[in-house]
Amino acid sequence: MFDGPFGDSIIKRAVDNGILEIHITNPRDFTYDKHNKVDDSPFGGGSGMVMKPEPVFRAARSVIESTNINNRRVLLMSPAGKTFTQEKAKELAEYDQLIIICGHYEGFDARIAEHIPDEEISIGDYVLTGGELPAMVIVDSVARMIPGVLGSEESAPTDSFYDGLLEFPQYTRPRDYHGMTVPEILISGDHAKIDEWRRNESLRITFEKRPELLEKAKLTEKDKAFLSSLSANK
Ligand code: SAM
Repeated sequence: MFDGPFGDSIIKRAVDNGILEIHITNPRDFTYDKHNKVDDSPFGGGSGMVMKPEPVFRAARSVIESTNINNRRVLLMSPAGKTFTQEKAKELAEYDQLIIICGHYEGFDARIAEHIPDEEISIGDYVLTGGELPAMVIVDSVARMIPGVLGSEESAPTDSFYDGLLEFPQYTRPRDYHGMTVPEILISGDHAKIDEWRRNESLRITFEKRPELLEKAKLTEKDKAFLSSLSANK
């Protein structure tokens, strides 16, 4: 599952350039039985299978012991975790190693969540069949925060959520597409004016589409005055 997303584009380039290392560990390789069973039926009955503690504990220990990195964070993919955000991606990018544990079936034996991870992370209030997609989401978004992963032409600081706001609208050629034109200010060459317009557009779009984000965003007095003018005209 990981080959596609990790073998392409920006993530692949980061790996090729030695900025990022990605290793996949299969808990099946840490079983003792001949069928390499990683799941079993739940105590107390019920449908579905539960991931057994032993292969996951052994796999996690093996990764920890083979890498000898202190500045690490162990994450468990779980719908019960805290919802992943851009802020969390920035925070996780400060670690030298992330160990991301992916569940399957009905999820993990509860002792796994209790004893192995530093934290449980969810990528949203919905349930996926396995933790692989959430793990890839986290690797991709954290990797973009690591210096050198994005080229100079790909910028993170103007992205949505980076400073708590949604991104301003972007345009490219042609200036006029079937009567749909680009805002004049963007072709004025006045960079101070363009920066101001972009900031205000970020504020306006966030105000219109995700007003709750404004509560946590870092706002200047000028931002606040602009937002008040939007509220007044609503
Ligand atoms: N029975 C579990 C529950 O109700 O919470 C769901 C298990 S889910 C089918 C299997 C695995 O997928 C989970 O153990 C977790 O690793 C992963 N997973 C599913 N949805 C997820 C989400 N929103 N965020 C993070 N991981 C998720």
